[in-house]
Amino acid sequence: MGYWMHSYKIKGKNFWDIPIHGNMSWGWRKLLSVRALVRPFIWYAIRDGKLANAWNDNWCESSPLRQFITPRRIHNAGFNMQTTVSGLVDGQNGWRWPVAWHDLYPVLNDLDLPILVPDSSDWLIWKDRNGTPMSFSSGEVWDNIRSRADVVHWVDFVWFSQCIPRHSFHMWLVIKNKLKTQDRMSIWDAGSETNLNLMCCPLCRYDKDSRDHLFFRCSFSSHVWNMVKDLAYMANVDSSWSSVMAWSQMHASSKSAEAIVGKLVVAASPYFIWQERNSRLFTPNNRTAPMIANIVLQTVSVTTRI
Ligand SMILES: [Zn+2]
Repeated sequence: MGYWMHSYKIKGKNFWDIPIHGNMSWGWRKLLSVRALVRPFIWYAIRDGKLANAWNDNWCESSPLRQFITPRRIHNAGFNMQTTVSGLVDGQNGWRWPVAWHDLYPVLNDLDLPILVPDSSDWLIWKDRNGTPMSFSSGEVWDNIRSRADVVHWVDFVWFSQCIPRHSFHMWLVIKNKLKTQDRMSIWDAGSETNLNLMCCPLCRYDKDSRDHLFFRCSFSSHVWNMVKDLAYMANVDSSWSSVMAWSQMHASSKSAEAIVGKLVVAASPYFIWQERNSRLFTPNNRTAPMIANIVLQTVSVTTRI
């Protein structure tokens, strides 16, 4: 990133105006493609005003000025696209732009005249989403440009400091209903030669498997669940996925030992049931429900040393 930041001015050309060439490396093209994303966060602190481009760079509250001042008006006023902030300021006398611009662009009336500091270069600063100057780091950049969604109620149910990451990731897939269960595959595979009507749950060999069947309506899965849920202090939670999620809503953010063990058990159960389901699909090995329940309990015991 350092190279990229320093390349902001290349051969006197404004970084943002560099066209993307066909022979440019993949890495460079990727970097340049995020220009629009990061640009609102990159600001100039004005000193002598000779580096910050008046129209394209962020240096005042209304920046970039080019978003409302057209190149034609810029040229008609005697400026050019390379004009820097120093070119806009006439010492203590005020702005160099035409008086008419104050009527055309009332927002300019509110701008404070920068006090130029001779022999001191403008410098780049990073401002976060709230406009607060921050020290520049890749983590800070990521936190500002990543896409955001509303926080879901189950976030603490899936991700917590004691969680087993591979179980949590699996639980995240379960909650989003993204596992390749037979009900979802039948939608993708419509028209193929696979006869999905013959598919049935490899655990109970009765119903077609789905998220709600596997966790834990299936007779095999509910057997496992009934053997582990007491340890998870979830004796009152029945074998329906909606019951599990209702429990999560009430206990997800609790820091009590019971809630943490509960979350570990809830995450481990679908993980090992899914593992057994796949093992039965692709190998001749069958483990019993008590064996799976044991694995769940052992895994949680090791994690919590209970
Ligand atoms: Zn089943």
